[in-house]
This record gives sequence, C-alpha cells and structure tokens, in this order.
Amino acid sequence: MSEKVKYLLLGGGIGSVSTAAALRKFDGSSRILILEKSAQLPYNRPRLSKTWLKGYDPKEHLIHPPAFYKEKGVEIQTEATVERLVPGEHRAVLLDGTDIVYEKCLYGLGAVSYLPPIKGADIPGVLTIRTAEDIFRLKKRLACAKTALIIGGGVIGLELALTLAAVKIDVTVVEGASYLLSRFLDRQMAGALRTRLELERIRVLTGAPVSEIRREHTAWQAVLKDGLNLKGDMVILCAGVRPNTGLAKDAGLITDRGVIADNTFRTSDPDVYTCGDSMQRNQRAESSWAEILSQAPFVAENMAGGIRCYPDIPVPKILNSGRIWLYSIGDIGKKDGSRYERLIPERMDVCRNRFRVNPEITGSLEPLVSVYVSGGIVVGAAMINDWRLMNRLRLAVREGWPVEKLAEKGVALCSTDC
Ligand SMILES: Cc1cc2nc3c(=O)[nH]c(=O)nc-3n(C[C@H](O)[C@H](O)[C@H](O)COP(=O)(O)OP(=O)(O)OC[C@H]3O[C@@H](n4cnc5c(N)ncnc54)[C@H](O)[C@@H]3O)c2cc1C
Repeated sequence: MSEKVKYLLLGGGIGSVSTAAALRKFDGSSRILILEKSAQLPYNRPRLSKTWLKGYDPKEHLIHPPAFYKEKGVEIQTEATVERLVPGEHRAVLLDGTDIVYEKCLYGLGAVSYLPPIKGADIPGVLTIRTAEDIFRLKKRLACAKTALIIGGGVIGLELALTLAAVKIDVTVVEGASYLLSRFLDRQMAGALRTRLELERIRVLTGAPVSEIRREHTAWQAVLKDGLNLKGDMVILCAGVRPNTGLAKDAGLITDRGVIADNTFRTSDPDVYTCGDSMQRNQRAESSWAEILSQAPFVAENMAGGIRCYPDIPVPKILNSGRIWLYSIGDIGKKDGSRYERLIPERMDVCRNRFRVNPEITGSLEPLVSVYVSGGIVVGAAMINDWRLMNRLRLAVREGWPVEKLAEKGVALCSTDC
C-alpha cells in the first residue's frame, strides 16, 4: 500500500521548509509532507560557521519550533531517507521501503561538501562543515586541539576561521587563489579584509594551492605545491559544495552541475520542482539562504498550479562572523571587456548612523566601501565593517541607478584618491 500526499518535499532544508510554509498560502488543506534523512528537525545551516562551536546544539538553532509545523499542518518526518524517485509514477521510495505517491514533488536535497582532488582529502578525520553532525565532530576535536588548518578561504572558511580564533585556536587559512574572495572582492578590498583577519590573529596564505594532506596519529599536515609544509591539530576542508544530484539523475531528470530548472523552478519533469542548493538555473548552480527565502513563494505558487517566473536580481554575498562583516553585491569590476570606475563615498558622515560600526576594527584601513560604476551606472558595491550605505547601494545596484541618482539620495561618489 502506498501513502498518498499532494505535496511531497524531499529534504528538510530551508528550501523545503520555506516552500511548505508558503504552500499553505495557496492551498489551505492538502497534505504536505517533508522527508529529511537526518535525525534533526530543520535547523539554521548558516549558523554552523558563526556560532559558538563548543556549546553548539542544533535544537537551539531550529528554523521553526515543532509547534510551527503543527500549526501550519505540515508533516515532517526525520530519519526518512529517500532512496528513489520515480517521476513517471509520481512516486518516491524510502530506504525502509515506504512508498509515497505524490501529485507535486519538490527536489530539495541541497548539496554536500566538495572534496577537492587533493591527495589525502579523503583520509578519515579530515573535517568538513555542512551539517550539525560535522559540528559534533569538530567539537570533539576542539577538546584537545590548539591549531587548525583551514583549506579554502571562501566565505565559510573565513567565518569558521573567525569562530575558531574566538575560542583561542591558532588558525591558518590556505587559499589557492591569489587573493581572498576573488569572486566578490577586488584585490584592494581583499587586502583590507586580510588585514582585518590578521588583526584577529588568523594567518592567511594566498596563492597557496595544497597538493597533499597527511596524517600521523593526531598530527596533521598540509603540503603546499611549493613544498611548504604546514602543521596543525586538524584539517578542515572548506572548498565549496556540490549539488546533490544523484537521485535526480537516477530518476531521469535533466541534470548538469545541479538539477536543471526553468524560471518557474520546474525541472524536466512537469510535476517535479527544485530550488536551493540542488538546483541549477540560468547556468548558476549555487544558492544562498536569503535567495532561497525569496524564491520559496514562487516555487510554492507554481507547485500549487500557478505559473510565475522568478525575477532575477543581484544577490549579495555576506560574511558575518565575530568582528568582521562583509557585503558584496553585483558586478564588482569582473566582467571581461567592460570598463569600470572604482569609486568611494565622498562623505560617510552624511549617512544616518543607524548601525553600530565596530571602531576597533574599522580603524584607518581605507577603503571600506567601494562602488563600481560602468558607463555612469552603479553596477556593484562592496563594504567591509561599514554597513551604513548598504540599503541604498543594494537598491542602486539592483535598479541600475545612474551615479547622479545615488548622489540625489545622499551618496555622492569620488575617486579613491579624493
Ligand atoms: C557553514 C555554512 C554557512 C553558511 N552561511 C550562509 C550565510 O551566511 N548566508 C547565506 O545566505 N547562506 C549561507 N549558507 C548557505 C545556505 O545555508 C544554503 O544555501 C542553504 O542552507 C541551502 O538550503 P537547501 O534547502 O537548498 O539545502 P540543504 O540545507 O542542504 O537541505 C537539504 C536537506 O536534504 C537532506 N537530504 C539529502 N539527501 C536526502 C535524502 N536522500 N533523503 C532525505 N533527505 C535528504 C539533507 O540532510 C538536508 O537536510 C551557509 C552554508 C553553510 C554550510
């Protein structure tokens, strides 16, 4: 006998949870079921790299309390691993043999940590950071560790470095690219970020690809391509993620780096939708918490029978841990063949100082706010530890304001040497 549900949501991440909540607005009564393989109720994944690790308990970081699901009439099963999806029969099969028939399905299986092709990356004990279970493993190791090697200086690697430095772990971040966050910052802003990390006693090596990870009992080494040998009590790989496409591929859905979806979030099967980290849409196979929250109402409306296209808007990249906050949005001078001016706000004191800026960190290390202008239009912006202009710059980038309009709104720009 098969169970029957109208909406079956695979995976208990923010994609499924926010879609389930939004579905209730379009369909007040039909059965909605979320299946999650882990034992945890859906929790806030971004907290994993920002939270006080030694005291980490996912129950304190739930997306919603258990009562929320009851109130919304959303069923959620944990320890329910989906083993097979059969779109042709509108059916999903669980590891325990349970068979569920759906009308509409959301493929929300997220992503897994990427293990780069580095010799030794698969040695037992190499840590990654994607799930609550990863943090449990890290917590155990913190009990007797004094030093950590983080391989990968992306947002998550740097947030984790700050979190570990705050509990007095000596952290070295090793990044293969020639400067930090090279997709979201220019070289100068990346230099300013690096200085701030070093003020937090984090050692940063850039242009330093790792060729091998070695382990001898509790001692770890990362060997760089130039032969330098770094030692630490643990190695944490923060090399990005890969969308969880296995089940989709086996089900015959079209996949590439992620599960391919159109602008209504529909996959190659008309009754299977996808969103979040498992999805690839418009060539992009990456997502973020904030982006998923803004997509969920569209996914839900379309699953409930609507046809509403998601309007793509530039999504910010945010780093937020300890005493460092970084925000980057739009095109920060990276498109080949385009000409840019990199400008700074003429006077920061004209801005309403609604937000606290940490004076210990902001210091005299300019520039902290950069605005990128191409053909007179504001196309991108980046800020470090200064978010007074965030709302206006976000709007300017999203709506493509001319620089004059930004000036009318109180933000006149000048060249970096003004
Ligand atoms: C450490 C860290 C920090 C981050 N910080 C930020 C941030 O500051 N800002 C931001 O915007 N984004 C951040 N992100 C990214 C953000 O968390 C993700 O984009 C988002 O959580 C993805 O949600 P999702 O629902 O698509 O996938 P996931 O959260 O990965 O959820 C998918 C779920 O599916 C389950 N699953 C997988 N396979 C099966 C199966 N076969 N059967 C049943 N269940 C299954 C998984 O257990 C998982 O719970 C961070 C991510 C990490 C890891």
